[in-house]
Amino acid sequence: MKLSSISNIKGTIHLLSGLHIGAGQEQLEIGGLDQPIIKHPVTGVPYIPGSSIKGKMRSLLETYYFVDRPSTRKHVIDKGSACGCSEPDCPSCRIFGTSGADKAEGLGPTRIIVRDAQMSGNDLDLFQQGKQNTEVKYENTIDRVRGTAAHPRPLERIPAGVRFDFSITFKRFEGDEEDLINYVYKGLKLVQLDALGGNSSRGSGHVEFENVRCDDQEVDLDRIDLS
Ligand SMILES: [Zn+2]
Repeated sequence: MKLSSISNIKGTIHLLSGLHIGAGQEQLEIGGLDQPIIKHPVTGVPYIPGSSIKGKMRSLLETYYFVDRPSTRKHVIDKGSACGCSEPDCPSCRIFGTSGADKAEGLGPTRIIVRDAQMSGNDLDLFQQGKQNTEVKYENTIDRVRGTAAHPRPLERIPAGVRFDFSITFKRFEGDEEDLINYVYKGLKLVQLDALGGNSSRGSGHVEFENVRCDDQEVDLDRIDLS
C-alpha cells in the first residue's frame, strides 16, 4: 500500500478542570499517594500519554459513529472492547489499528500516531521552579447509613489551567477513498465534550483544544460538524 501523504495536527490542550491519568500500581511510591498520576521518570514532570488521548478518541468515535457496523458492534457493545474486526473497510481499524496477528489483507498500516503531550513552556518553567505543583483531591464515599463521609482516598491531579502541547501525525494511503482525517477532528471535538483520564464522571479531565492547526492551516473545532 503506497503512502500518499502525511499530515501533522498540532495544538494546545488546556485543562479546564484537574486531570488525573493514573500511573498504575507498579509505580506506587512507598508512603506516596495511593492514586498518583503518570510523570516523566527522570524529570518528574507530568505529561499526557498519547495512548490516553488516542484511546479516548477511539472509544468515543466508535460509540458515536462506527457502532452501526455489525462487526464493530460485536466488539464495542457485546465485549465492551475496542473494535478489532480488521475488516479493510472498517474506519476504526484503519485509523487506530488492530493487533498484528489478525491483521487483514487490505487494512493497511495504522493511520494515526498520537505523541505524548508535554507540558507547555510557561507552565513547565513554573513547574520546574516549584511554583506550580500537582494537587490532591480527596475522594469521599458517603456512608449510606450514617450519612457521613468515609474512606477518603487522595487523588492526585494536574490542576486546571495548565497547558500541554499535542501532536498527531496522520497518514493517507492510495485507495483511501474518504478522508479519514475528518474523524480525527470529530474525535478531538468529542473529547472536549467528554473528558480525558480518570474520575471524569466527578468532574476531572475537562479539556479544551486550542490553536489547532493541520499542516499550518487553522482548524476551527467549533465548525466541525458532529452529524
Ligand atoms: Zn474494526
